[in-house]
Formats: sequence, structure tokens, C-alpha cells
Amino acid sequence: LINKKDNNDYKTVRVGNIEIGGEQLIMMAGPCAIESKEQMLASAKAVKEAGGHILRGGAFKPRTSPYSFQGLGEEGLEILKEVGEHYQLPVISEVMDPRDVEMISRYVDVIQIGTRNMQNFSLLKEAGRANKPILLKRGMAATIEDWLMAAEYIAAEGNQDIILCERGIRTFENYTRNTLDIAAVPIIKSLTYLPIIVDPSHGTGRRELVAPMAKAAIAAGVDGLMVEIHPSPCDALSDGPQSLELPEFADLMVETQELHKMI
Ligand code: PEP
Ligand code: MN
Repeated sequence: LINKKDNNDYKTVRVGNIEIGGEQLIMMAGPCAIESKEQMLASAKAVKEAGGHILRGGAFKPRTSPYSFQGLGEEGLEILKEVGEHYQLPVISEVMDPRDVEMISRYVDVIQIGTRNMQNFSLLKEAGRANKPILLKRGMAATIEDWLMAAEYIAAEGNQDIILCERGIRTFENYTRNTLDIAAVPIIKSLTYLPIIVDPSHGTGRRELVAPMAKAAIAAGVDGLMVEIHPSPCDALSDGPQSLELPEFADLMVETQELHKMI
């Protein structure tokens, strides 16, 4: 079971030479969707130069409308892998279909399971048989207990390298895209030894709220952050309004690392 045995029971998840759940605050950043090699090169350069740790980019996008951009698929993963290697950044991307787990494992260092698939039990089981760390996002209508049991599905298949990600839940409030549940951070820390990160981009849906909520997450004891960035957010094929401009991301890196040192 992934339950915490005592107060000092913490697990770190290794990704290359990065440790998630250790001393460092881990920053995962990149565009919502992989759109082109140029877009990924510009984003990865910004992540690397600012001191970010992991490059993100979606190749299979779970869009609300079937007519919205669905992602570049395997071609996108090829770009992600190549750009990650070029900048020596480990990469993360979302899997939506159990049949794609093995294929995606050939391209990424961390496999992401998105909010809409948190209780896709066949996907969770397949992820549990994968040879890669899994980032498990909280379902947008999942309780903490639902979320931990979803993680248990992965662990039960033998894969203990699980990183939890709070990305906001649905509430009556619609000023923000989701309501970021910051309390989930200390709660998760008290219940399980698994590391937890926060995604303030999907958690708010608004660029100007990303930095304040990232800082709130750090104050709450988070192990890392995942943020969306884009070389030109107004031209982004998905989630432009919540994507940071590259210089804004550089500022966020400085501010978050400084705050983390103080805590
Ligand atoms: C994402 O990170 O690309 C994503 C789709 O997030 P979520 O599953 O949290 O909506
Ligand atoms: Mn997105």
C-alpha cells in the first residue's frame, strides 16, 4: 500500500539524475501541446536556460471538442525526444490509450496520466506494468481518496514510481478554469509517501494567477511544479490563455527557487 508508515516515510522518484520528492523543488515546463520543432526548441531553450528540470509537451491532447487540435501523435513524441536530448532535459508526455503505453515509453522519461483518465483503470494497470515513472493527475471531480486509490492501481501492478499532481477540481466557481486545491498538498503529504507536484496552469486557466498559486503551493510544501509556457501564447493551438511567455517563465523560476530556499 502507498500509505505512509510513519512521519519520515518519504519516497523519491528518480528521473535521470533528478530526484522528485527530495530537497530540490522540481520544475516541469513546456507547451500544452507539441506544435512544431521550432516551438519545442524555443520552449526547451527557455526551460534549460532558466534552470528548469523536465520538459513537457502533449502529443495526444484530450480536448473537450473533437474538432479542436488533437495533437501531433507519435510525430510529436519524436520532436519531444529529439529536443529533450538536444537540451539534456528529461521529457514528459500524456498517454490516453492503454494501447499506446509501450509506444510512448520509447520516447519519454515520465508518462503522464491526465485528469480525465484518472479512473481509467485499464490505463492505470497498463501504466503499472510500464518501466517508467508515472505522473498521475488528480481527476477534476475526484476526492483525495479516489485519487490515492487510482495511484494504488498503478502500484499494485508493480510500479511504485508515482508522482501525484494536483491540477484543480471543478467547483461552482467559474472565474477560474478550476479551483486549485492547495490543501491537497499537506493532506497528501500526511497520507502517502509519494511525492506531489502542483499544476497552477490548469489549476487556474489564467496566466496572471500562475505565479501566485505556484508560490502558495511551495508554502504548502509541494515537491515540484508543472507549468505551461509558449514562445507566443496568443498563437498557441491549446491553452494559450494560461501559458506563460518565456521571459515570464524565467522570472517564475527565480522567484520559486528563492521562495523554496526560504521554506
Ligand atoms: C495537460 O497537462 O496537458 C493536461 C491536459 O492536463 P489535465 O489532464 O490536468 O487537464
Ligand atoms: Mn494544457
